[in-house]
Amino acid sequence: MNPVVPLGAHGVRAWRWVAAMALVATAVATHWPRLTFGPEGPSDKWVHAIAFGVLTWFVWEARWIRRVITLGVVACAYAAIDESTQQLAIFQRHTSIEDYGADVCGIAVACALLWPPFAPISTAARMRRALRLAARARMWDRPTTWLAIATTAVACALVGGVVSLGYWYWVGHHIALGQCILLGMCTSVILGVASAVTLGGCASTRIIRRNRCCFHCGAPVNEVQAEPSPAGACSHCATPWRAVQWSVPADTDESGRRSTRRPPSSGRTRSAIFASILIPVVVMLLWVTWRIPPVDPLGDSGEREYFLLRALTIMIIASIAASRLLNRADLRRYEREGIDCLACGHSVEGTRADGGIGRCPECGGEFIRVSDPA
Ligand SMILES: [Zn+2]
Ligand SMILES: [Zn+2]
Repeated sequence: MNPVVPLGAHGVRAWRWVAAMALVATAVATHWPRLTFGPEGPSDKWVHAIAFGVLTWFVWEARWIRRVITLGVVACAYAAIDESTQQLAIFQRHTSIEDYGADVCGIAVACALLWPPFAPISTAARMRRALRLAARARMWDRPTTWLAIATTAVACALVGGVVSLGYWYWVGHHIALGQCILLGMCTSVILGVASAVTLGGCASTRIIRRNRCCFHCGAPVNEVQAEPSPAGACSHCATPWRAVQWSVPADTDESGRRSTRRPPSSGRTRSAIFASILIPVVVMLLWVTWRIPPVDPLGDSGEREYFLLRALTIMIIASIAASRLLNRADLRRYEREGIDCLACGHSVEGTRADGGIGRCPECGGEFIRVSDPA
């Protein structure tokens, strides 16, 4: 019998290659003698922030470091070494504290996004999370995923470049052309890749549900339909499974996407959290655009750069707070599966759940009720 390859093993190997290549590329680019964008070129703060943010993400996916706090500290230390070695005479570059600030901003954004959600406590919520993790692992195992993401990135870079060229031509003459195009391309690639990853995760979830794949090795579990009280162990890797682990929560569709049906109370909480974070951020953005010191073609750009860094820092703190609060609100709701209906909020405490699966008498949405450890 072939040794069992756990789901995600190929994906991690691919990520290690990507992360290693990105580390080498960044080290070369930051130490390349006299590499600058020139006085008229794009502000290299954005490039610094984006490069170090992406690098942090890659290192996380490579699983060399398993805790986000450690990842952040190591990345900041690496950035400090990278920045300070630039003053060595052979590289003919200089160390800049503003550049380091930009690196740290990028790392902070990456860490905020990677910060794992609060760990679920109830068995039902833990099963939901196990499915999400299995779907992600399965997605990164496929070479087609990598191909699709590379294609998306190239297409988005082209589209973003053309759109920002148009923007610069008709609207944004006061911005440096290079900066406008570079920012447009980066934004477009980030949005495109993020959507591709989300869609890939949804497709992967749908396949795992439909084929009833084992969460550990990904092999389909076929004998499930015949059983009256369905539970068993994978015939490949002996990982135990229960039929409820593939069930569809009432508030999502088969692919794991949120449906519009949700309890009114949770909708209100989310909007309140969103509003309390989003409004200050928008006000902040407007204020920054209004108050930003103008580019002084003769003077140095230090004042402007500091201003941008301060604004970025405030926005990072706001977004970390928002994501943590939303996360907690979500988790509280998922912990109540089997007690309240996730879709309409109706109490299902007295409703029967044969084989662990029940239906809300109010809206017909499916819920699972599992008490013992999976
Ligand atoms: Zn298995
Ligand atoms: Zn319901």
